Amino acid sequence: MLVKDLNSIELGYDIIIVGAGAAGCVLAANLSEKFKVLLVDSKDFPRKKACSGIIVEEGKSFFEGKLDKSVLVEPNVLDIDYVDWDNNLSKKSVKGFLNSDRFALDNFLFDKVRNKHSIFFLKNTNFIEYLETLDKVHKVVMLESNGFVKPIITRYIVGCDGALSSIRRKVFSRDTPFYIGVQELIKSNINIERAIFIFDKEITDFYSWIIPKKPYIEIGALLEPKDSKGKFELLKKKIGEKYSIFGNGEYNSAIVLRPNSIKDIFLGKDSIFLCGEAAGLISPSSAEGISYALKSGKFCADALNSGKDALKIYKSNCQLLVDRLSKKFEKAKIISDSNLRKKLFE
Ligand SMILES: Cc1cc2nc3c(=O)[nH]c(=O)nc-3n(C[C@H](O)[C@H](O)[C@H](O)COP(=O)(O)OP(=O)(O)OC[C@H]3O[C@@H](n4cnc5c(N)ncnc54)[C@H](O)[C@@H]3O)c2cc1C
Repeated sequence: MLVKDLNSIELGYDIIIVGAGAAGCVLAANLSEKFKVLLVDSKDFPRKKACSGIIVEEGKSFFEGKLDKSVLVEPNVLDIDYVDWDNNLSKKSVKGFLNSDRFALDNFLFDKVRNKHSIFFLKNTNFIEYLETLDKVHKVVMLESNGFVKPIITRYIVGCDGALSSIRRKVFSRDTPFYIGVQELIKSNINIERAIFIFDKEITDFYSWIIPKKPYIEIGALLEPKDSKGKFELLKKKIGEKYSIFGNGEYNSAIVLRPNSIKDIFLGKDSIFLCGEAAGLISPSSAEGISYALKSGKFCADALNSGKDALKIYKSNCQLLVDRLSKKFEKAKIISDSNLRKKLFE
């Protein structure tokens, strides 16, 4: 991989990938070397994304046992206690999820593209806009870095640009609800071995959590944008009272999509593809998005590598992700309603 600055890069590429998160890195790593690929990200690298890094079964199987152990934090494997503060209910669930450090996971994924000669990478570079060319085959992508704007020509654009995807907004008009994901990593001697997922309508109609990441404990919540700061303070106060976890630590936040229905999932059109959260591939009941990002990135690479009808193949490959998500919309409604939620604890 050649890391360059926007000023010095060449004018034409086969594929431009916008976003070097989980989806963008897996896509870039799996694309055939016959393609000349430009991977851009608006952030500095290595990047830090607000994310709890819990890897569910589908994410675990994606790595086929090859996930570097150094990516995991203690306790490496997590089960979950669900607690409903509205109804005073609780339930234990054996999950066996992996407890990763998201920063280390991102570096592990980025390492897979670092040595590929067919990939050119630009950090601190924003995708702004694309325009159609007269031949209707190529597109002109406007990129910006440090106030300098440059047009680049490409055959395909893949939006792996996350919850606030500019590419999604350009090709898909539906507004998808979003939440603010807030998390704070607090140094603590309190011994917690399981993740605790909290339902409390005073705080959010989604959920909040306590996750051990030794020697830290992560407190987090998915909050409606209105008064999210006040709601997070209230959560911390309640957690202090119930679990004696106090103090302040490293605070991070990011937007999370919460798709309402299958109609919020959009995988692309013509020669524009969307992967990961940009496609709306994230669970509306748990905000689990890593496994969808990994798998859609791989499916997109497989489709583009195959040569013809790439978008059709991509959509067909993603059907199992869409089917998996379609079962979660009903659960999302149930967890949001404190009355209906009681049945999850039976
Ligand atoms: C607080 C929080 C906790 C979470 N916890 C979990 C969890 O425990 N487990 C789980 O599975 N999921 C979790 N998620 C969701 C998960 O983080 C995302 O769904 C997942 O990271 C999506 O991956 P992605 O590659 O699609 O997008 P991202 O990882 O968001 O990457 C998108 C990239 O695109 C870049 N970008 C955006 N716009 C532009 C632009 N215009 N030009 C250039 N680059 C651009 C960004 O800089 C970013 O690096 C959590 C989310 C939050 C906010």
